[in-house]
Amino acid sequence: MGATIVLASANAGKLRELASLLAPAAVELRPASDFDIPAPEETGQTFLENALLKARNASDRTCLPAIGDDSGLVVPALRGAPGIYSARFAGVDATAADNNAKLVAALDGVADRRAHFYCALVFLERADDPAPVVATGAWHGRIVDRPRGAGGFGYDPHFFVPELGATAAELAPEIKNARSHRGIAARALAQALARALDR
Ligand code: IMP
Repeated sequence: MGATIVLASANAGKLRELASLLAPAAVELRPASDFDIPAPEETGQTFLENALLKARNASDRTCLPAIGDDSGLVVPALRGAPGIYSARFAGVDATAADNNAKLVAALDGVADRRAHFYCALVFLERADDPAPVVATGAWHGRIVDRPRGAGGFGYDPHFFVPELGATAAELAPEIKNARSHRGIAARALAQALARALDR
């Protein structure tokens, strides 16, 4: 196993998913929770800026290389909302059900149902690394009013993927990983990291 990298997230599901997707880069990923790192304020206006803030904060606190991630749902008919506010679309303590109810209400009577999930991943060698390794991914679909499926999380039951005839919540985890914004970004990061760590 090669370098130890801190993942600037306490989410165990994300750690598992990213660890398996980053396996080709032969790195050891450790969660922010191993280090008691307070989350930084997400003051960016884009997923990319927030991912960078998270990576820089984690690297600063641990003196280790770090990966920051940020992701969410983008709906063009809602001028990009919920966007970087995806987790708290319906309020700071909102549940996924609250956020989904707000999304469906906001699209009531709207013909344009297009939406995409977006993920930004940023790797920093050090907190003051001037050359971050950046990878992004997007996954396109449409928002449906009626939820379908019990898998996944967040907006998945309302995110319908026409090519698969299913919502993201109806997909097996490996199918979701193969297609999703996070899967695309993580595979791109794994390749870029393998190159960067090989130098
Ligand atoms: P974060 O990247 O953990 O900050 O995620 C922000 C929010 O975006 C989550 O709480 C979800 O509401 C939403 N989100 C991100 N990725 C997904 C996904 O794969 N499925 C459903 N919702 C997602």
